[in-house]
Amino acid sequence: MEIIVSSFAGFCYGVQRAMEMAARAAGKGPVYSLGPLIHNPRAVKELEERGVKVVKNLDDVPEGALVLFRTHGVEKETEEEARSRNLEIVDTTCPFVKNAQNKARFLHQKGYQVLIFGEKMHPEVRSLYSYTEGTARVMNSPDELEDATFKKAGVVSQTTRNNAAFSRFCAEAVRRSQELRIFNTICLATTERQEDAVRIARQADFMIVVGGKNSANTRKLFDIVREIKPAVHVESADELRVDELTKYDTIGITAGASTPDTSIRELTSRLKNYFGG
Ligand code: SF4
Repeated sequence: MEIIVSSFAGFCYGVQRAMEMAARAAGKGPVYSLGPLIHNPRAVKELEERGVKVVKNLDDVPEGALVLFRTHGVEKETEEEARSRNLEIVDTTCPFVKNAQNKARFLHQKGYQVLIFGEKMHPEVRSLYSYTEGTARVMNSPDELEDATFKKAGVVSQTTRNNAAFSRFCAEAVRRSQELRIFNTICLATTERQEDAVRIARQADFMIVVGGKNSANTRKLFDIVREIKPAVHVESADELRVDELTKYDTIGITAGASTPDTSIRELTSRLKNYFGG
């Protein structure tokens, strides 16, 4: 049996950076994370054991404590409130998300009608929206432009959207605007991971996707690869029915951006122990 592991499987740059920042902060005392730092129950549990407690909002954070902002950023008002309460902020907002926030603010300040290409309720999009003082229009597809026309419009994207869909959206926005500024704020980590998953799925007989069941990017990977080959989505190695894989010669493995390396290693070891190699 041959095993192919995607070189893009596991933590992306932003998540790796956030995990390191959280671990460093935990060494200084209790840390309060506004929501789980990443969508992976195992990693969240490990962080909890190191003193990173997940809370819903700032009201649950004691005065003067360390509060951690997640990779997809927080709304501007939340940051202002944390500062006014004298909380010590550990801001793990990914630099790609920060860039999108800055571009949204810039467009708003320059008088552009900001269009955010993304999912309305996603925390990152809500944070981008807050940087336009609640004036942006959030859309998930070109159809949502309906019969809108703009004198001055500016577009930014949720970082994890794909380039092809963003281009279609922008093409429609061009038709409807006298002046249009576009900032491509998409981070390539998602696209690269998805493209590599497709490449491996084409070579393999069966695909395993490892990662949190609550991780949107892991679920998306699973949806992509199962269109190409039979596939399974597991959170950990022990969920895998290894005995059902004997009919396959080549197994492909990929993992979401929030999947720890240990989960990927445990999975490959389990396969190697069973099939040899
Ligand atoms: S997917 Fe991209 S934007 Fe999101 S945390 Fe990872 S590197 Fe940052």
